Formats: sequence, structure tokens, C-alpha cells
Amino acid sequence: MQKFLNSEEIVVPAGGEDTGKRLPSRRVFAARAERLRQLAKGHAMEDFLAFAARLADAQQNVLDRHGHAFQEKSRPDAAHLARCRQHGIPPLDAQGGPVPAEWVDVLHALATEVVPHSPAGLQNAIAELPDFPAERLHALARAILRAEEDLGNPVELALAPLIGASLQVLWTARALALQPCDIPAGFEGSLCPTCGSQPVASILRIDPAGQGVRYATCSLCACEWQVTRNKCVPCRNTCDIAYLSPAGEAATLCPAVEAETCPACHRSLKIASMETDPLVDAFADDLATLALDMQADQAGFHRAGRNLFLFAP
Ligand SMILES: [Zn+2]
Ligand SMILES: [Zn+2]
Repeated sequence: MQKFLNSEEIVVPAGGEDTGKRLPSRRVFAARAERLRQLAKGHAMEDFLAFAARLADAQQNVLDRHGHAFQEKSRPDAAHLARCRQHGIPPLDAQGGPVPAEWVDVLHALATEVVPHSPAGLQNAIAELPDFPAERLHALARAILRAEEDLGNPVELALAPLIGASLQVLWTARALALQPCDIPAGFEGSLCPTCGSQPVASILRIDPAGQGVRYATCSLCACEWQVTRNKCVPCRNTCDIAYLSPAGEAATLCPAVEAETCPACHRSLKIASMETDPLVDAFADDLATLALDMQADQAGFHRAGRNLFLFAP
């Protein structure tokens, strides 16, 4: 088993101070790709996870090549950052403002990288990409950022994971241009304090004292923010929180993942524990445990996490 997380990535928040927030690693997509390849072996969804690994590899390549230029173009100014800190507003808000113009460059760079490895449906959709008016592409991006369900025709639906992946690259590049002190502090929210998006899942990390500390992982910018254990992230309820463990094959392949279920809002959010498996990745382990979502759903708890590689409106 190849180890891809170093000890710094496991225990030390970005910036070296414990602010309850962690900026993403510069190798976040490479780490996800490695984890996805590891989880794909012998998995019932091996082909899907292997493609997801290719897409994450392509995300890392585009981030490595273009990330710095994207950061330069879209870093918020000091006045905006100060205003956001003062009022507790996410400085890279993905819900309200327009999608930065350079996003289309990220999308095309990612499409070029991934097209040789794509399933036929995505290859055909990518072939139509040059004919899409920029306005329509931006409307699709905004719909995905706002988690709107009506994406339009089948080609647009086929492109959705690629668009989601390209938005992740851009927002991660933008987050990497921030300091931990740029992110509003002092609240424990249901949404990412950096960009206002939903979490994909949560992760139990190990702090320097050897204690488990829980963070929610952003579905878009890959920042993490500290959340309380045994407390529902979407609605903050603390009563009668319970946990579902994977059954069947998933119990062997992903023993470190559980679904936290909340009887107040009837939702569930996964927790991937580094205490059980130090190599877990919230995003990758979420994709590999979709059977656990079905278990939770059958028990009456709807999936709260959002994964931009999954599109089933
Ligand atoms: Zn975020
Ligand atoms: Zn709840």
C-alpha cells in the first residue's frame, strides 16, 4: 500500500496554527486519485472509481500547470477579505457571485486531459463542448454551484461531473491563495466558511495529542472546518445521533466509514476515520461507499453530503 499523506497533512492545520480550519493541500487531487485507485481494486464499481481517479489526476495536472495563474486573476482584495472576516461571510462565495471568467479555460484544459480516458457518453459530450455558447456553460456552472437539480438535456447532464471537477480546480486554486486568517472564524457552520458550499462528508483526524478531531470537508474548495463529534452538521442537533456501519462488501473494503444519522432532520453525513485507516479521504471514501447511502436511505435518512462527481438529479 502506497502512503501518500505525510504526517504534516494528517495533524497540522494550514498555517501551523489551530484555527479550526484547514486549507487544502497543494496535492489534494493527487491524494484523492491515489486513494480512489486503492479503493477501486476488487470494488463492485471498479470502473467508475478508476475513471474518478483519472479525473482527479487530470485535476491535479491542471492545478499544477495553471493554478498559479488562476490564483493571480481571482484573489479577492484586502478590503473584501476584511469585510468577510468582520461579517462572517465566505470570502470565495460560490452561491452568489458570478463564476470567474477564467473558469472556461479550466474546463477546456480538464476536458483535453481526461477525454482519452473517458467513457463513451462523456467523450461524445466533450466533442460537443466547443459548440456550447459561453453563456450556457456559465449558466450550467452556476446551476451546479447552487445545487439546482434541473440541468437540462442529456449532453449537459453527461458534462456535469466534468464541470463540477473544473469548478473544484478553480475554487481550490483560489483557496490556496488565502491564509487561514482570511477565513471567518468563531462559528461552526453547516456550510464551508471559505466558499459557502455543502460538505462532501466529514473526516476524523488525529491531533498532536492523539485525539480524534472531526472536520467537515468542502465539496467544492476542499477546505475543512472543525465540527463537533456526535452533532448533526446540517442541522446541529445533538439528540439521538446514531451511526450506521457499512454492510456486506463495503464493510471489508471501507471499514473506516460510517454514516452519522440525525432523527431531527432525517439526514445522514458520512464520517471517515483516520483512527481506523490513516489513508482515508473524505471525497474518495464517499464515492466508494454509495451502498452506505442506500442503507441510510432505507432507514429513512437522506444523504446530506454533496459529491460533484455524482450526478443523478
Ligand atoms: Zn469550500
Ligand atoms: Zn440533523
